[in-house]
Amino acid sequence: MVSPATICTFAVNLKKRKPISMEQKFCQSCGMPLTEEILGTNTDGSKNEEYCMYCYKDGAFTGNFTMEEMVEFCSQFVDEYNKHTGQSLSREQYKALLRQYYPHLKRWQDQK
Ligand SMILES: [Zn+2]
Repeated sequence: MVSPATICTFAVNLKKRKPISMEQKFCQSCGMPLTEEILGTNTDGSKNEEYCMYCYKDGAFTGNFTMEEMVEFCSQFVDEYNKHTGQSLSREQYKALLRQYYPHLKRWQDQK
């Protein structure tokens, strides 16, 4: 089970690891790699292929975040990110990374 705490760690790790497989899909809200088990759900209960279950459930986003709020939310996991990558980013440096990454995701593209 992938906890929300690992979302951003994954997102940034995968961004740095190249090349990314073309088949790999990422949640278009938080950037987490999507697998069948963690897909979000549509109103009719079918799987949504673009968002994860933490961001999207029953046809709606689970939280009404702005991009900056999502950055803020995920920045609390900076220690986890540092642990995984062996880096020692400050929370502000980590937020700067997320701010570069998120505008590539569909959810944030009309929220600049
Ligand atoms: Zn997500």
